[in-house]
Amino acid sequence: MQRAQEILERVFGYRSFRLEQSGIIEAVLAGRDVLALMPTGGGKSLCYQIPALVRDGVGVVVSPLIALMQDQVNALAALGVRAAFLNSSIEPWAQRVVEDDLMRGELDLLYVAPERLVTERMLGLLDSVPIALFAIDEAHCVSQWGHDFRPEYRQLRVLASRFAGVPRIALTATADARTRAEIVGELSLERAEQFVSSFDRTNIRYMITEGDNARERLWQFIAREHPKGAGIVYCLSRRKAEEVADFLNRKGREALVYHAGLEADVRRRHQERFLAEDGLIVVATIAFGMGIDKPDVRFVAHLSLPKSIEAYYQETGRAGRDGEPCDAWLAYSVSDIVTYRQWIDQSEAADDFKRVSHGKLDALVGLCEAVGCRRQRLLAYFDERHPGNCGNCDNCLEPPETLDATVAARKALSTVYRTGQRFGMAYVVDVLLGKADERIIRNGHDRVSTFGIGGELDAAAWKGLLRQLVAEGHLEVLQDGFGGLKLGDRCRNLLRGEATFHIRVRQKAPSKRGRSGRAATSDKLSERDRRLFDALRSLRAELAAAESVPPYVVCHDRSLVEIVERRPRTHGALHEITGFGNKKVQSYGAQILEVVARHDA
Ligand code: ADP
Ligand code: ZN
Repeated sequence: MQRAQEILERVFGYRSFRLEQSGIIEAVLAGRDVLALMPTGGGKSLCYQIPALVRDGVGVVVSPLIALMQDQVNALAALGVRAAFLNSSIEPWAQRVVEDDLMRGELDLLYVAPERLVTERMLGLLDSVPIALFAIDEAHCVSQWGHDFRPEYRQLRVLASRFAGVPRIALTATADARTRAEIVGELSLERAEQFVSSFDRTNIRYMITEGDNARERLWQFIAREHPKGAGIVYCLSRRKAEEVADFLNRKGREALVYHAGLEADVRRRHQERFLAEDGLIVVATIAFGMGIDKPDVRFVAHLSLPKSIEAYYQETGRAGRDGEPCDAWLAYSVSDIVTYRQWIDQSEAADDFKRVSHGKLDALVGLCEAVGCRRQRLLAYFDERHPGNCGNCDNCLEPPETLDATVAARKALSTVYRTGQRFGMAYVVDVLLGKADERIIRNGHDRVSTFGIGGELDAAAWKGLLRQLVAEGHLEVLQDGFGGLKLGDRCRNLLRGEATFHIRVRQKAPSKRGRSGRAATSDKLSERDRRLFDALRSLRAELAAAESVPPYVVCHDRSLVEIVERRPRTHGALHEITGFGNKKVQSYGAQILEVVARHDA
């Protein structure tokens, strides 16, 4: 462990371990298998990179993200670590070079795509060299229920038997109990020590609204909260993504599109620009994001519902990996929910898959319609308890006005029951409001006892109430494709008068708080410090361009801010800056110190 601490400081330039890092590293160093669940930005990479440097042999890292391997290897090279990767993007000659380095024992870390690792050729090569560990990154890809299922991940269980003495560490940022169990089962990790960090991303502010005109509201949000910061906007369709990007560009904010319908080189160019430049917005379908670990994404916005809470958590998790304040903003409409239900029902999938999918959608709708703390709701989904009142979500910051609607809820439930638990929202509302149309008369529903007893609310309010009853499990939507309603498991207490039911009174008006003043710390600098910060930032851009890496590989904004605050004058002082290990001080030290000295002259 002492070696580990030394490497943390000398190579990575960090002072102390975070969260579960030290426990995980200790276990791997002792040769034990590990399953590590840690949120995005929690610092998973160090958990295998440091043991790979401490233990003899090469650390083999399985990653599904080809695009990310290059970034990781670049970042490690910038720290002076000997790393390489093998995947389908690499030329045969380059592959030979990597393999030769591997055989000569000159690699600390080797990143490999899963399908390549399990080839007999690759396994054969690995048989003949000492291996420090296997790291299986994004381990949730073994889960067939998840949105990132990669069948070849299941073949990775071969590592357990073939390299019995080598510790394996599986890592993921997505893990509800089901996924966790699947990882353990599929990868033979029954004996692994499990480390579960809190999944709370405290620096993310969650905001969710329902209603019309999402695009205009998005613009108000961006203009008010993120006039400069980089962001990602997710849309459901390619066409929508194009349209929204045009809209933002017309508003004067540079936005690039990204979706599977674009030429591969256009996609690559847009992704590269997003990584390399400051303050760009990418408007994308979910095709974008796997493999984006740009640390300074300041907001992630959704213009429609994500697919599930896991997807929401993962997509919003791309914001603020650097730990600075950032926003997760979601606007959805009820028609999104209906669309998803139809997709699920009409898909070719097996029934149990459909049932799980509906359940996941229900949970997400529940989060969206919640009147309490979003963070508490979100974490509860991952079996994590949070006391609520987080102070950093829309509902905590501006509690929605609620109304005791227990009586109305009972009327609605009873109407669903009396009309036979098969009609959709519109019909149920018509009965409540006493609309004796032909269908209702034909069905005899103008004679049920709840006909016309709902005068206290209008049709829109009744629909909102029904949606919320669905969201909270008092009602369920039939899987018939027509949105029929039936009583849900949880409605009993409400019907018996043992529980109360509150509804949101109305959509919250857009916040008038003005800019929240939570922008990244560099925004808070004085005029004079700002000039130094900008000078350092241009130096960083030059250094990055010279090495063909994104600026954050040279160093993060956080480090620049620290340099501005502390004005280091010597190499030793630069060492004290977060993120500056030996190699970085050596490579960039002289130029950075010169900029600081010149600025203060
Ligand atoms: P993950 O893979 O879990 O999303 P990363 O491994 O990319 O997260 O780490 C996120 C960021 O936190 C990186 O910039 C990393 O260098 C930084 N980091 C990780 N561990 C530490 C630590 N102990 N101290 C300071 N920064 C750290
Ligand atoms: Zn909250």
